[in-house]
Formats: sequence, C-alpha cells, structure tokens
Amino acid sequence: MTRLLLIGPPGAGKGTQAVRLSEACGVPAISTGDIFRANVAEETELGLKAKEFMDAGKYVPDSLTNDLVRSRLHEADVAGGFLLDGYPRTTAQVDELDDILAAGGHSLDVVVLLVADSDEIVTRLSKRALDQGRSDDTEEVIRHRLDVYEEQTAPLIDLYQSRDLVVTVDGLGSVDAVTTRITDALLERGIVLTLN
Ligand code: ADP
Repeated sequence: MTRLLLIGPPGAGKGTQAVRLSEACGVPAISTGDIFRANVAEETELGLKAKEFMDAGKYVPDSLTNDLVRSRLHEADVAGGFLLDGYPRTTAQVDELDDILAAGGHSLDVVVLLVADSDEIVTRLSKRALDQGRSDDTEEVIRHRLDVYEEQTAPLIDLYQSRDLVVTVDGLGSVDAVTTRITDALLERGIVLTLN
C-alpha cells in the first residue's frame, strides 16, 4: 500500500513518471491537470470554470481543486493507495489532503520531488507545445507557470521536508534513467516498486 506524491515544476516530467510508477505500485495515478483537461475537453461545468485559469497559467482556485480531489480520493480504487501528480500545489491544498487522509486514518508515505533546471523546462515544454498543442505551453504562459510554481508550490517542499517525507530525484536524462532513479530512491525508504 503506497500513498505517494509527485511534486516538481511544470516540465520536470511528473506526468510521464506518474504513469510508470503507478503501474509499478499497482495504485491509480491521479493527475489534477489531466482531470481538468478532460473536463475542459468535455465542456463540463468544472471545465468551463477551470479553463480561463489554465490558459493563463494560473492555478485553478483551491475550492474547485479541493472538491475535485476529495471526491476522487473517496472512490473505491484508491483504497489500496494512490499516486498524486500535481496536487497539492498550495498550502490550503496540503491542509485539505491532510484532512482527507486523517479522516480515513491514513497519512502519506513519501513525497518524490522531481527537479530540473528552468532552461531545460522551457525547452521541454516548448517542444510539448509543438507535439501536443496544449494551450498553456506558450513561452509566456510557461514562464508564468514557473513563477507561480516558485511562489506557491516550492514552499510546500520545506513543509514536507519537515515531516521527513521528501526524496529528491534529478529529472534530467532519459525517461528510463529517471524512473530507475526514483525506484532506487524509494527503495532506500523501504518502498519496493517492481518495474515491468
Ligand atoms: P504542469 O505540471 O505542466 O503545470 P499540469 O497538467 O499538472 O501541468 O497542470 C496544468 C494546469 O492545471 C495548471 O497550470 C493549473 O491551471 C491546473 N492545475 C493542475 N493541478 C492543480 C492544482 N493542484 N491546483 C490548482 N490548479 C491546478
């Protein structure tokens, strides 16, 4: 049973690693960004509300994001654990997650911090803009997303470090190399993931 968070700047490779790690631990990967994008595509009420924030590179308001995660974490498939990608990103979201977990008698096992320097990030995201056409991957919006990350999300690292939950992994290099780095770091914490 693993309750794991992936944290790191946009473009560090969280989404790619989240899919691989969740398969290896047999728990669902929950990406708030993916859930918001699916809602935007389906033009749901949540999607219509989230779109303007996302396109501007801003965070979707905590109230909307917290409600979404609260209901997702009550679904049956997360009883055996989960991997959260892109949540929490604000201190209010940390508090919400703490509450949700405490109500079920649970807590986090580990927080994986994926790091990458900002030049590499801008290069990667600009490439993704060409490949995937994401509306928030223009250079101006990317730079804004990095600023918002530094201002609102980077402080969460200290908070989780004070709980001794953080393992830091370099996100540069091949996808396989990064996955191996993460599984090695988790092993040092006694968390065994078997890659297929
Ligand atoms: P990235 O990590 O590259 O920023 P994501 O797919 O994780 O990409 O997120 C895309 C957008 O979705 C964010 O810029 C933000 O607008 C919204 N979003 C995702 N997760 C959250 C969250 N936890 N809180 C607020 N907004 C979020």
